[in-house]
Amino acid sequence: MVLVFVETENCKVRKAALEAVYYGYLTAQKLGTSCQALLLGNAEDATALGLYGATLVHQSDSISFNFFDNQVYSAAIAQAAKKLEASVVILSHSSNGKSLIGNIAYLLDSGSVSAAVDIPETDKGFSVRKGVYSSKALVNIEINTAIKLVSVLGNSLQISVVGSNAEVQPIALDVLQPGIKVLSVDKLQSNVTPLPEAERVVSGGRGLKGPENWGIVEELADVLHATTACSRPVSDADWRPHHEHVGQTGIAIRPNLYIAIGISGAIQHLAGVNNSKTIVVINKDPEAPFFKSANYGVVGDLFDVVPKLTAAIKNLNA
Ligand SMILES: Cc1cc2nc3c(=O)[nH]c(=O)nc-3n(C[C@H](O)[C@H](O)[C@H](O)COP(=O)(O)OP(=O)(O)OC[C@H]3O[C@@H](n4cnc5c(N)ncnc54)[C@H](O)[C@@H]3O)c2cc1C
Repeated sequence: MVLVFVETENCKVRKAALEAVYYGYLTAQKLGTSCQALLLGNAEDATALGLYGATLVHQSDSISFNFFDNQVYSAAIAQAAKKLEASVVILSHSSNGKSLIGNIAYLLDSGSVSAAVDIPETDKGFSVRKGVYSSKALVNIEINTAIKLVSVLGNSLQISVVGSNAEVQPIALDVLQPGIKVLSVDKLQSNVTPLPEAERVVSGGRGLKGPENWGIVEELADVLHATTACSRPVSDADWRPHHEHVGQTGIAIRPNLYIAIGISGAIQHLAGVNNSKTIVVINKDPEAPFFKSANYGVVGDLFDVVPKLTAAIKNLNA
């Protein structure tokens, strides 16, 4: 059986978790087994996990799950995997997933691959594909242990409906007491899809000249229902918050659409964005390196081009 750990936020299943479930479903199909989901805490839309391939949702509820504690969550997931005799355990490659995978691998004595970009090859053994060298190359890694552990990179596959609502069934687990206590949570932005999950991203660089000009980036992002990002010098200069910085030393993203405004396209920037499905570059310098990676490019002054683009999309939306 393939067991998928489902991440939630505000009692709702996260988009990354739907992708993980769909990835689990496709993996289970290849292995001729079922895909089941594990929910720690509550999610009002848990039954909908069945739409993306979970035949059953196991739910354990406890106040220990109210806030994320790596030790509590990894112990519960490992325990559930053993109890349900899972042969494959799938996580999202989110910040929580990144912190869980090592601990769960230790607890299950399992080989693991993080940030998988494709469904495992199961014809000969069990091998998982992931990007390396800032996604300039792909490797296939074989996992030989009895239980295999994989985390799935966000936006790696297009999910589709393959089933109907799933039953949610309680699972009894010995849940640990948290070793930490979260005192407060200050949300930076509301109603905006976090960068790793965003399907559309509008990003600004030093070409914007200063933080006072960011309104045109935000307006374009707004009409496209996109998340905003920036290059590293922009966040280093405190024009934008650090959680918006994409690239080799920032967040690596793979949205369907990445619009780069006034960004030169240095290799360290490209390392975090060159897996985007469609890249649009707006730059006044026709020699800017970013144009080599672009699907569409506009050579022009961003202060002229971007408001026109926003107005045109507004018209289209209307
Ligand atoms: C170890 C290391 C790690 C790094 N990691 C990262 C990282 O993770 N992410 C990252 O982004 N960078 C990273 N960098 C920095 C990277 O090398 C570049 O310096 C940086 O990406 C450049 O940012 P930029 O494109 O915003 O600025 P610039 O290179 O200054 O480019 C600005 C661009 O704006 C254009 N422009 C100017 N005015 C206009 C206008 N009016 N209209 C249209 N276009 C205009 C210019 O033609 C230019 O191409 C790293 C560097 C190092 C050494």
